[in-house]
Amino acid sequence: MPAPHDYLIVGAGLFGATFARRMADAGKRCLVIDKRAHIGGNCHTRVVEGIHVHAYGPHIFHCNDERIWAFVNRFARFNGFRNAPIAIARGKAYSLPFSMYTFHQLWGVTTPAEALQRIAAQRLDLQGREPANLEEHALALVGRDVYETLVRHYTAKQWMREPRELPAAILKRLPFRLTWDNSYFDDRFQGIPIGGYTRMVERMLGGIEVRTGVDYLAERDALDALATTTVYTGCIDEFFDYADGELQYRTLRFESDIHPCSNWQGNAVVNYSDPEVPWTRSIEHRHFDNDPSVPVTCVTREIPDRWARGKIPFYPVGDAANLARHERYLARAAALPRHVFGGRLAQYRYYDMHQVIGSALSVAQRVLREGGARAQGTHAVASTADSR
Ligand code: FAD
Repeated sequence: MPAPHDYLIVGAGLFGATFARRMADAGKRCLVIDKRAHIGGNCHTRVVEGIHVHAYGPHIFHCNDERIWAFVNRFARFNGFRNAPIAIARGKAYSLPFSMYTFHQLWGVTTPAEALQRIAAQRLDLQGREPANLEEHALALVGRDVYETLVRHYTAKQWMREPRELPAAILKRLPFRLTWDNSYFDDRFQGIPIGGYTRMVERMLGGIEVRTGVDYLAERDALDALATTTVYTGCIDEFFDYADGELQYRTLRFESDIHPCSNWQGNAVVNYSDPEVPWTRSIEHRHFDNDPSVPVTCVTREIPDRWARGKIPFYPVGDAANLARHERYLARAAALPRHVFGGRLAQYRYYDMHQVIGSALSVAQRVLREGGARAQGTHAVASTADSR
């Protein structure tokens, strides 16, 4: 009996939904499953008291790629939200990312030259060598005041490790500007899908069979029999029953409150830099996609948590030991003739949403061109280049 579907797609997150859409558009029969009770993966938004709550942390869409922007705009209209977080430290509010606003709040300076002078006076001089860790990198970039006020304790809380034990690369994601521009992202296209991410993913999956509450690993033979090719977007170590050991993640807990007002903290994202505050940031969801008729607000505190199997894997710990272990899993994956692996959990890397969509579109294109997962096995695993 031929399989009833061309593709079984494990995971209804953005990788799975994009891949499924691309294949359905090409006339392929897809079945999408997810072990969670909902679609959207970590981008899932649920409606609480009329507010679109970002259930797994705040998600702001941003990209420069017109192809990806056109793709997501097929399924949602985006508002013009731009992320401009603030940080509270020792009772004062600072603008993030580091900009002229931050330097003015710290030192009272009003020109780039004054800010640079302040920074130069306290910068760590690495004498041409690369920073050995995050602490050195921050001290060399912005000096002691910014590091002590806004980086040190926040980072230690977030990673549950001292900054000098962390790789410098983590901080390279945080922009540093000498302009009065407090946008977190530089990208041309930014916003939040009006109506929430879940509705956007629902539209992406329009006309495609979706089953939630189905764990692929609990019944993989029966599920594999339903399709010619399986696309797996879950944890790669779990797929191989941890044969090469467990990959480490950073995880989070969320605590939410409803407040009887329409504006609790005045901003979507507020970071807390003091070590005594257990959460790293609090999110007031209605600022992302405001409905003025809703009389209450929902605020979520994000609290770092120790990783253990069974918790939600949020951020890969991309140290050398984990990356080497992941390479071994990739080698196992490449040897499988009918499986394709993609998305942030199979690739064990941090992906922004546009990157995971870009990756899924590229992999789908390659699979279509080569005709199924068997074709030379070259596309069995999405590569980092796919996200560009
Ligand atoms: P996921 O969304 O994790 O989807 C994988 C799906 O597979 C899950 O639903 C899971 O339940 C399912 N699954 C796993 N195993 C099985 C199994 N055995 N059987 C069935 N189903 C299974 N990106 C941005 O661009 N902007 C942001 O502001 C932003 N903020 C973020 C904030 C946080 C806190 C985090 C953690 C990430 C953020 N991201 C952001 C990144 C964004 O979440 C990811 O790019 C995106 O979710 C990745 O999609 P994915 O499909 O690869 O993975």
